[in-house]
Amino acid sequence: MITTHNLGFPRIGKQRELKFALESYWRDEIRQDQLEQTAQTLRNKHWQLQADLDYVPVGDFSFYDHVLDTSILLGNEPDRIDKEASDLDRLFQIARGQSQSTSFCQQSAAGEMTKWFDTNYHYIVPEFDANTRFSLHADRFLAQIKEAKELGHTIKPVILGPVSYLWLGKSKDETDKLSLLDDILIVYQQLLLELEKQGVEWVQIDEPILITELNLDWQNAFKQAYLALNRTPPKILLTSYFGQLQENLLLACELPVGGLHIDAINGFEEVNKIIDWLPAHKVLSLGVVNGRNIWKTDLNAVINWLEPIHARLKDRLWLAPSCSLLHVPVDLESETELNSEIASWLSFAVQKLAELNTIALALNNGREYVAKQLADNALAITTRQQASIVHNPIIQTRLQQVDKSMAERKSNYSSRAVIQKERFKLPAFPTTTIGSFPQTPEIRQARKQYKLGKLDEQSYQQFIKQEIQNTVVLQEEIGLDVLVHGEAERNDMVEYFGQQFEGYAFSQYGWVQSYGSRCVKPPIIYGDISRPKPITVEWANYAQSLSDKPVKGMLTGPVTMLNWSFVRDDQPRSETCLQLALAIRDEVKDLEAAGIEMIQIDEAALREGLPLRQSQWQEYLKWAVNCFKVSANGVSDQTQIHTHMCYSEFNDIIEAIADMDADVITIETSRSDMELLDVFNAFNYPNDIGPGVYDIHSPNVPSVEGIVSLMQKAAERIDIDKLWVNPDCGLKTRNWQQVKPALQAMVDASYILRKQYI
Ligand code: GLN
Ligand code: ZN
Repeated sequence: MITTHNLGFPRIGKQRELKFALESYWRDEIRQDQLEQTAQTLRNKHWQLQADLDYVPVGDFSFYDHVLDTSILLGNEPDRIDKEASDLDRLFQIARGQSQSTSFCQQSAAGEMTKWFDTNYHYIVPEFDANTRFSLHADRFLAQIKEAKELGHTIKPVILGPVSYLWLGKSKDETDKLSLLDDILIVYQQLLLELEKQGVEWVQIDEPILITELNLDWQNAFKQAYLALNRTPPKILLTSYFGQLQENLLLACELPVGGLHIDAINGFEEVNKIIDWLPAHKVLSLGVVNGRNIWKTDLNAVINWLEPIHARLKDRLWLAPSCSLLHVPVDLESETELNSEIASWLSFAVQKLAELNTIALALNNGREYVAKQLADNALAITTRQQASIVHNPIIQTRLQQVDKSMAERKSNYSSRAVIQKERFKLPAFPTTTIGSFPQTPEIRQARKQYKLGKLDEQSYQQFIKQEIQNTVVLQEEIGLDVLVHGEAERNDMVEYFGQQFEGYAFSQYGWVQSYGSRCVKPPIIYGDISRPKPITVEWANYAQSLSDKPVKGMLTGPVTMLNWSFVRDDQPRSETCLQLALAIRDEVKDLEAAGIEMIQIDEAALREGLPLRQSQWQEYLKWAVNCFKVSANGVSDQTQIHTHMCYSEFNDIIEAIADMDADVITIETSRSDMELLDVFNAFNYPNDIGPGVYDIHSPNVPSVEGIVSLMQKAAERIDIDKLWVNPDCGLKTRNWQQVKPALQAMVDASYILRKQYI
């Protein structure tokens, strides 16, 4: 018999119950026991939803983040945390810098947060230094095991493995993270002993770093760790996910554990090799249902593929989703407004587990046993393959006609710069902003009313026009050189465009945890993308009509649209991205034709799409940069193309950034004291740069002197005639009381700089 299991279930709840409970607790509106109650109810519900599996995961639930939970489990809390607080409040202090909003509550620096592999989930980075010692604090974990067992579930506890834990953390001094291995292993051994006492048969230990490039020291750390942890019971199911094992394949197969789980979606090509290499006493868990996407699995195809594997492995074959289901929404049943044809192609966490069950039943009992499920699935798969809303021959033809010249400007940058200088006659150190202005409660309210049909089209348009006018007038008063319309009409930079593209669908409850209580609802690209009619031209035109200064047209780039959406899985991502690029190109050209002289195409998420293995970066960057260029470069030399990126780690991708050939790039640099410009300097980056001088993540208003000093540091690295003065990012999360003086300080600073340098 095949064994089925799950690596992890979304914690946030169908209706984001955990989010709302957490935020109420942080605002002091509910007590800790009420928060605990919500959490327990959610865990119980989620186990219930997984009850058809042979093993349900325990320990995957988290109040904030599972890496942070691991830090607490291992007694690795930063010194700055108030030791008297409850474990939950300590956890929130590490995560957020404060546990609750009450004023007597201690405030401290929040732990650093970073992306969990190539997902949009963010974890709290473990901190290490020379004084780091580990000790076991397993009460919460053990209590959840007890809770699940009392409900009658067959359980498999889940923990993050010691090697990945160390690897994901950060050494605050010179401490070599691997020097902590011996110590951490003692605690893991104690934990396994506790699990044995609980009668646990299998424990899932996640070691996702097995799919990354590991040097010899880290490979050896794996050997040392699993030799030390090798004990039965509990048997260890070692899991990797998100990619291929490649050069770590042998290592993973040979570690002394009870079984190995691999991502059979991303690591499909390695499966046969692993079956050959895996010692005969180990189980092999294949992640055959995609835990990173929302599409139905082609069940018949998977069963065809698995049949011979099953015949070979017999009881040693386990089946699961490819990774934790943390990265998909909870339940498709909640979606009542999705187009029913599209909905029939989708599968969220609950549906994915049902798929898994069907596959296992077909293999264990024969396909007849699940004939209806298989027939329904086959129908959905073929309908999607043939659907006219998916495949648009006009776009297919257009895609084939994309040639090299479409990605290139007519002239090179130095010639364009001369033409544009002449055209715009901007002063030195020109000032501008990144696009959005404060999204006030009034703006949100108006958009909501409009969506609900309570505000008619005309009144809404009028409202937005008024906002644009206010914003333009204010920018003129402050004295900015290049203006924006303020993006009042936009809820979200991807959703706004997606809603007006063909090929995009939107869920109501398709929330996925991004960090802590924050969730995102990625739109779904289901079909060929096109832009039936202009989207931003009217607003841009209106804004430009109010000023003699240039007002930038404001668009979201193709790579960002792609990386922040659920993407169709029936064609390469690069192809979908090129379709997006063509749609945006249409908009760019329409803006230009309408007389918009500067157009900004934001690529906030370009870096996010980098593959986990550096050896695959070039391939990605090649098509991603090409797509950006196709979107941007249909314009004449005198149109100025801007781009914006919300980060500043450009060291390893600077060549690609230069290849994008935007006339102006604005980036986030204010916190780095301009040191991050070193790479632009060393590379001799040829085009204009606006290094951020206003940290928009903080409520603080920057001082004129502070901005001047930052720009002086920038001028040490970059020719002054290439420098712009602007904030780090858009201003939509700030309020006007902060934004007005901050922008004024920027403008005042630019006057001082002009005097100093010109
Ligand atoms: N133009 C967008 C804004 O200002 C850019 C946002 C972003 O880069 N994340 O809001
Ligand atoms: Zn940004």
